[in-house]
This record gives sequence, C-alpha cells and structure tokens, in this order.
Amino acid sequence: MATYDLVIVGAGNLGLWTAHELAKRGFGRVAVCEQNWAGSGATTRSAGVVRQQGGSETAIKLGMWSRERYIGLGAELGLDSGFVETGYYVLAETEEEKAAFLDLVRLRRECGLQNAWVDAGEGRKMFPQLDWENLLGATYTPDDGYVHPPIVARNMTIAAARAPSVDLFERCVVEGIERVGGAYCVRTTRGTFEAERVLDAGGPRGARAIGAMVGVDVPVMASRHLVVTFPDVALFPMFFALQKGVYVRPEEQGALLGLSNPYEKADTTGRYQLDFDWDYFEEMRPAWESVFPALAGQRVSRSWAGSIDYTPDHLPIIDQPQAGFYVLAAGGHGMMWGPALGMKMAELIADGVVRDLPGDEISLERFSRPLARHDAIALPFPTS
Ligand SMILES: Cc1cc2nc3c(=O)[nH]c(=O)nc-3n(C[C@H](O)[C@H](O)[C@H](O)COP(=O)(O)OP(=O)(O)OC[C@H]3O[C@@H](n4cnc5c(N)ncnc54)[C@H](O)[C@@H]3O)c2cc1C
Repeated sequence: MATYDLVIVGAGNLGLWTAHELAKRGFGRVAVCEQNWAGSGATTRSAGVVRQQGGSETAIKLGMWSRERYIGLGAELGLDSGFVETGYYVLAETEEEKAAFLDLVRLRRECGLQNAWVDAGEGRKMFPQLDWENLLGATYTPDDGYVHPPIVARNMTIAAARAPSVDLFERCVVEGIERVGGAYCVRTTRGTFEAERVLDAGGPRGARAIGAMVGVDVPVMASRHLVVTFPDVALFPMFFALQKGVYVRPEEQGALLGLSNPYEKADTTGRYQLDFDWDYFEEMRPAWESVFPALAGQRVSRSWAGSIDYTPDHLPIIDQPQAGFYVLAAGGHGMMWGPALGMKMAELIADGVVRDLPGDEISLERFSRPLARHDAIALPFPTS
C-alpha cells in the first residue's frame, strides 16, 4: 500500500494550491486524487473573476493574497500567470446598499486594499459605457481583474507535476475513507493509500460526500450558474450589479456575462454540465442591457451552465473537524480565493493554526449556531 503524509481529495483550484503551498514549505509526501482530470470540476468552468472587494474581513484578505499569488506563480513558472488587471466597479442601486458599501470601503482600507467610493457623476466620467442614471455610485478597485481558468488549471498542474513531493493521480475516484489505528486508509479506483492526514477539497460535487465518508457534515451545496460571452464588444473594466446578480468582465475578444437566479434550488444531480437556462437569461436581459447598453442586441458566441459551490454564509471553510481530517471549501469564490485558501490550509496542516483570519468566518463549527455574518458581496445563491 502506498503511504503518504497527506492525501488530498480533489484536484481543483483549492486542492492544487494546497499541494503547491505544502511543497513550498517542504512538507512531506502528498498524493492528490482526482476522479477526472486536474481542474475538471468547477475550476475550468468558472468565469475567473478575481475580486479583492470582499464583503467581510476574510473575503477581502483572501482576495488580496490570491491576486498576489496568481501573479507570483506565473513568474515562478516562467509562464503567463493568467491574471488580467482591469479594475472593478461594484454598483450600488439603493441608499441602503450605498451605506453598507461605504462601511466596506473603510474595512477594505483597514485591510490595506486600495478601494474607493465613486459617486455616479464621477463614475460616468471614468466608465462612460455604463448607464449611471439609476445608480448611486460604486466601489472601485483599480487592480482587481480576472484569471483565465484554463491557464490557472495548466499552471497548477505544472506546479504539482514539478514538485518532487507531490503525486497527482488523475482518473482516481476516492470511494471510501476509513480510520485505521492512527491513520486513514483511502480507497480509490487506483489502489488504496495510507495517510496520516486527509484533505477534503472535493468542491461543489464532492466535498459533502467526502465528509460523509468519515461522518463529518460539510455544508457545501451546488447550484446552477450561467455564463455567456459576446464576441463583438470593445474592452472595458469589470462591474458587478449586486442587486441584479449579474457581473460582466472583458474576454480576450469581447465580453463575458455571468448570472445566477436567486430562485434556483440546490442541485443534487452530481452533474457539472447543466442545461443553460435561456428563459432566465432572456428574463434578465432588460436588467443587464439597461446597466450596460453596449451589450444590447449583441450576438452570443459561447454559453455554459456550471455547478457552483456555496456555503450558507458564502464564506469559506478552512478547518480540521477530526484528528487528521481537514476540510477546505470556497463558498462559491474559489477562483478569487483559491490560492489564499491553499496557503491557509497549508498553514493549518503544517503549523496547526490559521493566522490572521477571524475563526468565526472559516470554522465548520459556526454552522451549528446562528451565523454571525456573511459575505455581503456575493451572487444570489439558493436559500434552500
Ligand atoms: C460557471 C461558474 C462561474 C464561476 N465564476 C467564478 C468567478 O468568476 N470567480 C470565483 O472566484 N469563482 C467562480 N466560480 C466558483 C469557482 O469555480 C469554485 O468556487 C472553485 O472552482 C472551487 O474550487 P474547488 O477546488 O473547491 O472545486 P472543483 O474545481 O470542483 O474541484 C474539486 C475536484 O474534486 C474532484 N472530486 C470530487 N469528488 C471526488 C472523489 N470522490 N474522488 C476524486 N476526486 C473527486 C472533482 O472532480 C473536482 O475536480 C464559478 C463557478 C462556476 C460553475
């Protein structure tokens, strides 16, 4: 039986970044088991938005640390990092939102982020393609941007393959995990591995089932998220119309629009490839066309629906609920937070603590009592 210091279940952005960070620390031997191929889950289906303008201390810090790490890994590998800096406007439509956003600007600045409130008049000058008529303003950060998810998957796979202490097993389904003595036996379709520690990084479709293998309830659910691209739109910064649950970013050619339906139910099918909801897309058309008239009447070049993860408060899970069993989940923000989540999980595994993040925004235990807070800047995820 092959023996490892750690088995990571899932080679998505979270599992791979954890393996990378542990290798950099000189941690022992790590196996990463992936049922399909590295990045095949939510990671390569994502829109890749990297927003540092989070709605809580954890969200802000994870965004800042992740941006830095994406860029750093590109330089380390001598390849494109996949990160494109565009600047990002998070739009406020109501007085209530404006007040909350002003508080968040203060919090973000305290965390060291360059973030400003831009009122509608100023916004009109900075980003004239948006219709500011019904907006009160926006928060703005100039060095937010996006990553190309396929480049992220490529870079993370190369990083894992180059690390002598990491073995990446693709087409390796984890079917069971048993505690035997002081270690874990991880049964897979490519043999059984013994490890002192196991990390559940199974993402929207796997995290809950993997937790259940050792009797741990992991409240990670999946729901449908829609993305379309328009090939003929000129370049512009990114924006998020929070109330409408719609965001737009530039593509290499054109624009990408993402949207989630707040009335969507949690999807329990186990599928990553879901039907695109054209009815909802058309229902929302007047909403996004009114904010961003440049998209009106544009032809669509690509469309897809993917399975996005969420937690009850949209915040992550970085925890060790059982001796040697760790859980890492992104709350639906695994592209903007993935690198930092990997860094923090590596810290927990190697040092036994997570520093510089409030415990009640990352622990599993928080879900057993009324939630203290949530990430205020998130897509409208299902409430059931
Ligand atoms: C359409 C869409 C757009 C998105 N846009 C953004 C965005 O703009 N910005 C952002 O921050 N986030 C975005 N997200 C969310 C983001 O993609 C996820 O939060 C992130 O990819 C989660 O990473 P992960 O590693 O936890 O999960 P995954 O990438 O799903 O990786 C988990 C892996 O575990 C594997 N696995 C599961 N069970 C087993 C098992 N039993 N054995 C072996 N392997 C197993 C899966 O095959 C999978 O590859 C988007 C998601 C979608 C679907």
